[in-house]
Amino acid sequence: MASTVITVNRDTRPGVYPILYGMWLTLRNMFETLFVKGRSATIEYPEKKRNISGRYRGVHLLTAREDGTPKCVACYMCATVCPAECIYIEAGERPEKKIEKYPTRFEIDLLRCVFCGFCVDACPEEAILMSRENDLVGTSREELIMDRDQLMNRGKLAEVGRGYHPTDHDVRRPVRIAALDRLKSEHGIVPGMPNRS
Ligand code: SF4
Ligand code: SF4
Repeated sequence: MASTVITVNRDTRPGVYPILYGMWLTLRNMFETLFVKGRSATIEYPEKKRNISGRYRGVHLLTAREDGTPKCVACYMCATVCPAECIYIEAGERPEKKIEKYPTRFEIDLLRCVFCGFCVDACPEEAILMSRENDLVGTSREELIMDRDQLMNRGKLAEVGRGYHPTDHDVRRPVRIAALDRLKSEHGIVPGMPNRS
């Protein structure tokens, strides 16, 4: 098929008109920002914050059972699938036979985390979720390694809202399969999965 050559006219006709037009645009935006309510292009951060999507992958949180204990059953699915290897878990035994394990230690190094959400996808218990919090600051590396209790007591959650928590199991299934394969091939572990996909 013969190709078509398009000639683009790049004659921008420099002169005083483009300069005046640019100045008018700048002045108009300035006066609108100053005097027209709701037309401001900026917000007064941090007093005001932008609305963030419910799919936002912000800082994690661990959910709790009704008795306040972690929902997490220390199955290592999240730590196994994490590409940044920034989740550290130590498991302890629970007295009830039905649940078996819980995390005595659960840490996420947020400076290594790439906020991909794979840990949320892999979790069979909805025990780890993400919030919409995106303005976490710290003055040392240690401050940004969140432990189990910090992850369970995320006081800002009510303010910032819940973030990435996919309900579509087709989205989560490849991540879970990858986690199960790695658990089996690298550690010889075959965890029992709850009766849902
Ligand atoms: S969001 Fe990704 S990188 Fe961060 S802890 Fe979860 S799996 Fe690891
Ligand atoms: S995948 Fe869920 S239940 Fe398993 S260790 Fe991680 S947070 Fe806990």
